[in-house]
Amino acid sequence: MPRVITNLCQREGSCRIVCPVECIIPGTPVDDWPTYVIDPDTCIDCGACEPECPYSAIYPSDEVPSAYQARGGEILCAKAGTAGFNDTYTDVDHDGEEIVMPATRVLAEGEIVDLTPSIELNRAFFTEGPGYAAL
Ligand code: SF4
Ligand code: SF4
Repeated sequence: MPRVITNLCQREGSCRIVCPVECIIPGTPVDDWPTYVIDPDTCIDCGACEPECPYSAIYPSDEVPSAYQARGGEILCAKAGTAGFNDTYTDVDHDGEEIVMPATRVLAEGEIVDLTPSIELNRAFFTEGPGYAAL
């Protein structure tokens, strides 16, 4: 079972540094692929990336919550233009590079969010998206 990066990712890059098989890359273009993504065919499920994530965005693929209950304050991202995702998130990543996420919103305490679509998004990036050429 590979790990999956969910839309709680804020693209700061810590997971990519520790992956022993280099199967984590930033999704690009960010408008369409706002999170970092894990190639499920290359991931050896070692678990090293999961504790590195400061936003607890990484799960084993069979444990991605369909009803994630927000603590409040988490930033959820989506494709650019998604209704309700009206905030632009900016920061600096692990390497000092600027992060710009054009479609985000802040979760309210107790809000329930289905994170399982991320399973397919990670896979799709490497099969239908630009990830195949990127690896
Ligand atoms: S579980 Fe291990 S192999 Fe898979 S993405 Fe994370 S660090 Fe890489
Ligand atoms: S460590 Fe977490 S927030 Fe940082 S790039 Fe990886 S999944 Fe995204």
